[in-house]
Amino acid sequence: MRIITICLTFLVFFQISAQKTYLHCGQIIDTENGTVLKEKTIIVNGNLIQSIENGYVNPNNSKDRTVDLKSKTVMPGLIDMHVHIESETNPKKYLEAYTLNEADVAFNSVKLARVTLVNGFTTVRDLGGSGVNVALRNAINAGKVDGPRIYTAEKALATTGGHADPTNGASRRLSGNPGPKEGVVNGVDDAKKAVRQRYKNGADVIKITATGGVLSVAKSGQNPQFTLEEIKAICETAKDYGFHVAAHAHGDEGMQRAIKGGVKTIEHGTLMSDDTMELMKQYDTYLVPTISAGKFVTEKAKIPNYYPDLVVPKALEIGPKIQETFARAYKKGVGIAFGTDAGVFYHGDNGKEFRYMVEAGMPAIEAIQSATTTNAMILKMENQLGQLKKGYYADIIAVDEDPRQDITTMERVTFVMKNGTIYKQTN
Ligand SMILES: [Zn+2]
Repeated sequence: MRIITICLTFLVFFQISAQKTYLHCGQIIDTENGTVLKEKTIIVNGNLIQSIENGYVNPNNSKDRTVDLKSKTVMPGLIDMHVHIESETNPKKYLEAYTLNEADVAFNSVKLARVTLVNGFTTVRDLGGSGVNVALRNAINAGKVDGPRIYTAEKALATTGGHADPTNGASRRLSGNPGPKEGVVNGVDDAKKAVRQRYKNGADVIKITATGGVLSVAKSGQNPQFTLEEIKAICETAKDYGFHVAAHAHGDEGMQRAIKGGVKTIEHGTLMSDDTMELMKQYDTYLVPTISAGKFVTEKAKIPNYYPDLVVPKALEIGPKIQETFARAYKKGVGIAFGTDAGVFYHGDNGKEFRYMVEAGMPAIEAIQSATTTNAMILKMENQLGQLKKGYYADIIAVDEDPRQDITTMERVTFVMKNGTIYKQTN
């Protein structure tokens, strides 16, 4: 009986993996060269791109399938470098730390992962949550739930009282004394221990909060919150485990320490000076703009009681500046890695970031490259993700209009394939 089951399982697996998919693409974006190619067929075999042929090629085998994308613009699955996949903004968010159990967070996250995927984001870098993010990544990889490929920071690292101290705003009775295990670092030894704890917990990347933040219940949204020595210790330890480090930063001083300390990306970068932009180029550090989050918090801060009183003035001050900083950084030649901070706004709206980037002066194709080739490179996945090329993962999406003519088409993705499986197909 057992042998029969094994044989059947093998047979089913073999049949699924043997079916090829021929995607007839009206035009495809060549993200490596920044060009648009006409009339191509992408042949997908299993979870990989087998080849890309000129013209519309039909299968000569009846069990293979053809997908008509002749009226669409096809491109690699998008990569968002800054999401919080476990949670989503709502007026009760601050209470949820005390009312939700891990299982509640987990069930909620399943929906958020799916909505991200069907909107064209086949890979995300998750920059901080409670640890459910690791379990969610594993469940997606095991095929138990639908969602993007996740590279997660598990719990972000903060200093005591800093942005991402998990007990900010709590009564002293509830706040305890969080340490490296909970992602709170004070000193070089803590810094090393916190990184190693993330490794143990299953993280893929390290996130630090180099300055204050908008949404934490704390006074400053921009003060530096780590010493240079602490950041260096984090980055050096991270390197031992093959992790890169992402630094949340609004204020200039904290940003400079993060760059000099060795982080790979600066998140938000709101109050970045021209000197810091030069430093970014010198150290090959990338800016993850998150313009969407800036716009969203500015809007919501005007609604009474949506955020705590301490948060409102920070949101109104910092939120509106992010797009302008992005425009300056782009013009100065700072490397741009597409990222939105989804979770601070609604998951699935990630594609709006493209419109804001184009508004600020970045051409559509470059914005798409920042969400594909650039981000794949930062994730050290440049040979598997971010391009439509033989041997790459079959993460493929399509939109109805040409993004060079109408960038908002990126908000209406109509075809999504991840790892060779189709998750969305509308005509
Ligand atoms: Zn964030």
